[in-house]
Amino acid sequence: MNLHEYQGKEILASFGVRIQRGIVAHNAKEAVEAAKQLTAETGTGWHVIKAQVHAGGRGKGGGVKLAKNLKEVEEIANQIIGMNLITPQTSAEGKKVHQVLVAEDVYYPGESETSEFYMSVVLNRATGKNMIMYSTEGGMDIEEVAESTPHLIFTEEIDPATGLLGFQARKIAFNLGLSGTAFKEMTKFVASLYKAYVESDSNMFEINPVLKTSDDLIMAVDAKVSIDDNALYRRKKYADMRDLREENAIEVEAREVGLNYVDLDGNVGCMVNGAGLAMATMDLIKMAGGEPANFLDVGGTADAKRVEEAFRIILKDPNVKAILINIFGGIVRCDRVAQGVVDAYKNMGDAMKVPIIVRLQGTNAELAKEIIDNSGLAVESAVQFQEAADKVKAVLA
Ligand code: GDP
Ligand code: MN
Repeated sequence: MNLHEYQGKEILASFGVRIQRGIVAHNAKEAVEAAKQLTAETGTGWHVIKAQVHAGGRGKGGGVKLAKNLKEVEEIANQIIGMNLITPQTSAEGKKVHQVLVAEDVYYPGESETSEFYMSVVLNRATGKNMIMYSTEGGMDIEEVAESTPHLIFTEEIDPATGLLGFQARKIAFNLGLSGTAFKEMTKFVASLYKAYVESDSNMFEINPVLKTSDDLIMAVDAKVSIDDNALYRRKKYADMRDLREENAIEVEAREVGLNYVDLDGNVGCMVNGAGLAMATMDLIKMAGGEPANFLDVGGTADAKRVEEAFRIILKDPNVKAILINIFGGIVRCDRVAQGVVDAYKNMGDAMKVPIIVRLQGTNAELAKEIIDNSGLAVESAVQFQEAADKVKAVLA
């Protein structure tokens, strides 16, 4: 589950990580009030107005702007709230902005220069360890850095059994070229960031930029956080941060009925049991010249009710031109599934608008084929994988 920047920063602050302070606003009036309050608390009169959407690259898309007075706060907030923000990480249509973070300007001129670093904590699945990635080349072009000068990105692996060790935090601060106050600040920053990552059950904490201010403080200016969905049951506080407006509407509905569904761009709907078979089915569709419209794992039960729910979810995607059902009947018998498909199809009535190809293999497969073939419905059966692919191709042609 992804979070907004302001929510990520809230979590960071609760673990003692220094953050660029800010207040969320839903309209220009609230933005001006927020700016006044921040000025009263911090003293600097400049603010940065930041679109809150689940996508990076906001700066490049015009979603992060500096306001030098209250009039500019109002103007910029009016401009950003309600806009469709298009960034390198959104679709071509962009994302609607419902709220902004009004933050104190932390790049104000001082005795010395500010520096922008990159830092993230992620799970390295290959080694089964956590990993801190960091670079002196922080800011808006980290993807470019990763591509053309990957040697400028360092990694530090952390054994979850021991946690982050003191020397590792010092090594990171040293590699970032820091000394004195900034060095000490950075070791503290790294330790609290790592703690926040572990204790919130996150998959990812990406802070870009981490800023060294002109008075040598180290703080998080941005926060991209993703919490492990499987841990949300024990992290109620974070689960409540979910913003459904940012998520795919069909995926949200599928989750509500307990289906594993991922929306994709193609035209062939898939209903499969088991994630591995679901992926193989998507390959099969591609090889037949189609494009999968979704990934859908119906799980262990494939009775009429479940199949009908899956049909309804798949058909919410207007691009679907055919549905391929590929189910292996191990514990669940194929004839039961076949009967489920027939009953679900009938229940759907006029809502069922596309041809269906069903491949059932396993226990009682022959009986299942008979049920499908004798149903008198626009449902075709297939026995072999290739046969299913050919039939998909034929209905798409
Ligand atoms: P992103 O583009 O979605 O990653 O959004 P960020 O939160 O990283 O902001 C984009 C850029 O805005 C940062 O890389 C900074 O260079 C700049 N920025 C953020 N906060 C401030 C600020 O307080 N003052 C100034 N002058 N620039 C800022
Ligand atoms: Mn950023």
